[in-house]
Amino acid sequence: MTNSYFNIFLEDFPEGDDNLEKNIKEIIEYFEEKYPDPKSALNYETPFQLLIATIMSAQTTDVQVNKVNKELFKKYKNPTDFANLSVKELQKEIQTIGLYKNKSKYIIETSKMILTDFNGEVPKNRKELTKLPGVGRKTANVVLANAFDQETIAVDTHVFRVANRLGLVDTAKRDQVEQDLMKVVPGDYWTKFHHWLIFHGREVCKARTPLCNECKISSNCKYFQNQIKEAN
Ligand code: SF4
Repeated sequence: MTNSYFNIFLEDFPEGDDNLEKNIKEIIEYFEEKYPDPKSALNYETPFQLLIATIMSAQTTDVQVNKVNKELFKKYKNPTDFANLSVKELQKEIQTIGLYKNKSKYIIETSKMILTDFNGEVPKNRKELTKLPGVGRKTANVVLANAFDQETIAVDTHVFRVANRLGLVDTAKRDQVEQDLMKVVPGDYWTKFHHWLIFHGREVCKARTPLCNECKISSNCKYFQNQIKEAN
């Protein structure tokens, strides 16, 4: 463990459960070393492209979205380009993506709304972002964090699962996961923590079979500790 981490951030932790606080510190230390510069796996050049890519990524892999967008963003780059497409035209472009019919509709409606209501710019706050068709709290948080450097915790399936398994939260409600994580993770780490839980969820804490024997934070994990108790 690095002393610098404790020196800098000890005071930033909310007071409360000592064990939870210790676990979070150790988990952050591990992730800092393992993934020092975490970033979205989606490829984009502008906030608008990130918004479109994030709408497309629901229930689809980032790899598949990047594959489609490599060609799509060569042809269509900004809200005007997308607003001028018909739904059928866009459906044809993104038909290899899951839920492409609804997503095409949302992307065109969102592009039109950005032009009419927001001067052609992606809004920089959650309230306005979530007015856009197809944009929920998670998508808004992804855009705010990655395009506008605002600290947020976007809760996707990996964040939801891993945060609960680790015992950092204990809830079946997604919005509650975000609120509860923000209470226990220092504010400067919210965006990084979101990326870290996704990476850990993809690589180690897999949905069906978590690779607990390979996991370097098993001593901090409620799920794993419970498994040990049950086995003894
Ligand atoms: S010990 Fe297992 S359940 Fe816990 S975080 Fe690691 S992989 Fe996931």
